[in-house]
Amino acid sequence: MFWSKKKAQWTSETDVLVIGSGGAGLSAALAANESGAKVTVLEKAAKVGGATAVSGGVLWVPNNHHMPEVGVADSRAEALKYVLRLADGRSDEQLIETLVDNAPLMLQFIERAAEMTFAALKRYPDYHPEFEGGKPGGRSLDPGLFDSNELGEWKSKLRRSPVFGMTAMTVTEATDWGVFSKPMALPFKLLGERFQKGLICYGGALVGKLLKATLAKKIDIVLSTAASELIVEEGRVIGVRATQSGKEIAIKARRGVVLASGGFEWSKSLAAQFLAGPLTHPNSPPGNDGDGLKMAMSVGADLANMTEAWWCPSLVIPGEEYDGRPLNRGDFATRSLPHTMIVNRRGVRFVNEAQNYNDLMKPFFSFDPGAYERSNLPAWIILDQQYLDKYALMTHMPGRPAPDWLVSAPTLEALAAKIEVDGAGLRATAARFNELADAGVDSDFRRGESLYDHFYGDPDNKPNPNLGRIEKAPFYAMQVHPGAIGTKGGAKVNPNAQVLDVDGTAIAGLYAAGNVMAGVTGSGYPGAGATIGAGMTFGFLAGRDAAKQKPV
Ligand SMILES: Cc1cc2nc3c(=O)[nH]c(=O)nc-3n(C[C@H](O)[C@H](O)[C@H](O)COP(=O)(O)OP(=O)(O)OC[C@H]3O[C@@H](n4cnc5c(N)ncnc54)[C@H](O)[C@@H]3O)c2cc1C
Repeated sequence: MFWSKKKAQWTSETDVLVIGSGGAGLSAALAANESGAKVTVLEKAAKVGGATAVSGGVLWVPNNHHMPEVGVADSRAEALKYVLRLADGRSDEQLIETLVDNAPLMLQFIERAAEMTFAALKRYPDYHPEFEGGKPGGRSLDPGLFDSNELGEWKSKLRRSPVFGMTAMTVTEATDWGVFSKPMALPFKLLGERFQKGLICYGGALVGKLLKATLAKKIDIVLSTAASELIVEEGRVIGVRATQSGKEIAIKARRGVVLASGGFEWSKSLAAQFLAGPLTHPNSPPGNDGDGLKMAMSVGADLANMTEAWWCPSLVIPGEEYDGRPLNRGDFATRSLPHTMIVNRRGVRFVNEAQNYNDLMKPFFSFDPGAYERSNLPAWIILDQQYLDKYALMTHMPGRPAPDWLVSAPTLEALAAKIEVDGAGLRATAARFNELADAGVDSDFRRGESLYDHFYGDPDNKPNPNLGRIEKAPFYAMQVHPGAIGTKGGAKVNPNAQVLDVDGTAIAGLYAAGNVMAGVTGSGYPGAGATIGAGMTFGFLAGRDAAKQKPV
């Protein structure tokens, strides 16, 4: 065990100190509060919510109590089988059981503590619904809408999504309205009215509801305060040093410290040090710099899953920024809709473009040992005018002139020349792609075979909702960058979310939850909401256990 370098002069004291105000942190805070502890949440940013607040706000909870409402049966055994397969031997089976057993309990707890009700998403399939134990829907849960005015003076302190911020629709509505395939059919008048009223959705709604409950329970939330060092005495973590308005403070945590500070996706050095592939375009808000990971390492925490992220392809509109850094938009749908394909510099397809974003990214990192380079980077998404006529592309709506941030050309060869892709290769790939689109069967990469692919496709596009010819000039290209909605590696924990040292012994007083914790699903992504679902589950376990510890 490591010891703090200097004796602390406490600025304040609490029972349970939570570092980070995302989904994992606020769940930990609510759970510790319910168990009778005085709780303080430290947040580095000036706003509450982290990546959770800009997310889709969906939680993946297998075997949850809302599934019968949408007619989907589930069981512990099916969920375990499914998650174990996706974890691919990279996670501890006991922790997978912990997730499967406790996620439904966490959900019931959050619904009670935050006085909210989630809705099971009947048609949002697991990310591999055809695998044994996979489900066609029901495990992913929608947090609904939230009236941000209910936060009073905290309304302006809730982090808001730069992407989903203006369109207050539930995930259920977005699905029913065909948000991806029929953007012009959205009820814009209703959305405008909701916006005027201050209604918000997705991650903003989730964090808004958690924040409202946190404030109602008089849990202290201290913004613009960055934890920097764990304070250890006699082998136990008893507090944290932090920086506030340029000054150092020290907060005593009598019962425990919960690290819930998110991943390390914005730290170039940690990403280069640990990740299996280059992560150049993270999708989360800047701020997840691995502070919690470094604090855990500094007290001897064991680490796991460090090569992994919740990978996600990123698209960029030049000049767009969020919190002073480039805005990297995760591409969840463009690549799944007809009239698009992704190619490498040889102009060749290399993956089912409609695959879930996490698994899709893995072939981007494949390495050619002879050429000593990654065969599929850089990669480009190619589309034609038919796509722009029918579907939205980030800020572009159908029927408008092509945006100037798209590379465009009258022929595929001319487009290839502009993006330095092999022209003959691109033409041959498009010809082959058009044959597959006509047949409605992608015998090369199986695009459009899985129910998951269809979720992001166009149901009116026949015979395959994900395949459409690329033939109508002009042709367009955008670079697809390696991104991630968060990293997955971090401190190893036990089923109480206590951080373990390299001998497998719990470090007294220290907990981790969310993306700062070693992800329990290994390299896999079970379904929409699996990152927040797992983060909030381990947050719930951490808060409950920390509150029970004997105070120092
Ligand atoms: C566009 C987008 C959509 C997504 N949609 C979904 C979805 O629908 N469902 C899903 O499950 N996942 C989704 N994700 C991923 C998900 O948002 C994250 O994996 C998850 O929110 C991480 O939760 P967390 O609590 O671990 O961290 P975060 O929510 O990122 O919270 C961590 C907080 O800790 C703070 N912090 C960092 N360092 C310090 C420090 N030193 N001191 C104090 N505070 C600190 C950060 O500022 C941040 O506020 C999405 C992500 C993006 C970007």
